[in-house]
Amino acid sequence: MSTEKFNAAVVEQFGPSVELKDLELPQPGIHQALVKLHASGVCHTDLHAAEGDWPVKPEPPFVPGHEGVGEVVALGPGDHDVAVGDIVGNVWLWSACGTCEHCITGWETLCNAAEYGGYTVDGSFGEYMLVDTRYCARIPDGADPVEVAPILCAGVTVYKGLKVSDTRPGQFMVISGIGGLGHIAVQYATALGLRVIAVDISKEKLALAKELGAEFTVNAVDTDPVAAVNEYTKGGAHGILVTAVHPQAFGQAIGMARKGGTIVFNGLPPGDFPAPIFEIVFKALTIRGSLVGTRQDLKEALDFYARGLIKPHVTECKLGDVNNVFEDMRAGKIDGRMAINYG
Ligand code: NAD
Ligand code: ZN
Ligand code: ZN
Repeated sequence: MSTEKFNAAVVEQFGPSVELKDLELPQPGIHQALVKLHASGVCHTDLHAAEGDWPVKPEPPFVPGHEGVGEVVALGPGDHDVAVGDIVGNVWLWSACGTCEHCITGWETLCNAAEYGGYTVDGSFGEYMLVDTRYCARIPDGADPVEVAPILCAGVTVYKGLKVSDTRPGQFMVISGIGGLGHIAVQYATALGLRVIAVDISKEKLALAKELGAEFTVNAVDTDPVAAVNEYTKGGAHGILVTAVHPQAFGQAIGMARKGGTIVFNGLPPGDFPAPIFEIVFKALTIRGSLVGTRQDLKEALDFYARGLIKPHVTECKLGDVNNVFEDMRAGKIDGRMAINYG
């Protein structure tokens, strides 16, 4: 098996592009499975990874992708609770140590020894990938691989972000940034009984947000989102989930928050934003970061999908289209999510 080759999109050096290459089929090690891909979402994190945007960088050459869905074709040594033929997925939290303080207190996403899919370990932009069977996603029976793929990162990330937002049904939730993450966040927030306000800089994305359950939308290109949210909610939103890829949206979130409100940051654009101390203290705001989700969060996020409460808006592409997808993503031209169909 080890002499067989497969096609993958590889980041050879930092920049907004990948190269199609033939790689050697890897052998699954202990706790690992070899998976033949059916589909993979393209997350904005894959573009950040390719461009080397973050302080902690991946090491080229690497294969991005952490929303991959496929079939187990071989298992490594040891016991597994998945079998050949099962449909599984790779995720950002590819594996963790399982024994550190973070792992044993329900915060495995913060494990210092974690491996990240498509970042520290080759990911799903290829016809085959490895997963750790202790951490891989279990895909619900009958799920369409292209449609379910975005739940593996975008879905679980915003679902967890909403969980830690300390809001309850009937309260206002601003979703800032209606891209791959944000359009799914609108759906989870609606399913959780929150009153959703969508903010973006594109009218197409805001139209999609309305369709998916947002009761009020603000186009930050021509309207001040802070003033508009405060007026609509009569005093600010109880929760704000920022998935936008521009630092300006992070600063605006503080102005949109109601007294006592919680702001959750999911988006990871490089850069900083001004944080007004007086406003944060006098409004007693909570500002927190949130990183993907645990295996339990993933199970819950997939269950919402399986029950028909969440339906990612996905456009199919091919492995060879990744560079075009990156270009459209940078230009903010993608509605919902793009996903590679390995057909
Ligand atoms: P995307 O490109 O699909 O969507 C980004 C959206 O932000 C677009 O709709 C764009 O129009 C909007 N936007 C840009 N500037 C804006 C502004 N000033 N105000 C409001 N909206 C604005 O990207 P995505 O795949 O949804 O990812 C979003 C971000 O989340 C990325 O930085 C990604 O790396 C990060 N991310 C974080 C986690 C996590 O665990 N925290 C997980 C996945 C992705
Ligand atoms: Zn992602
Ligand atoms: Zn750990």
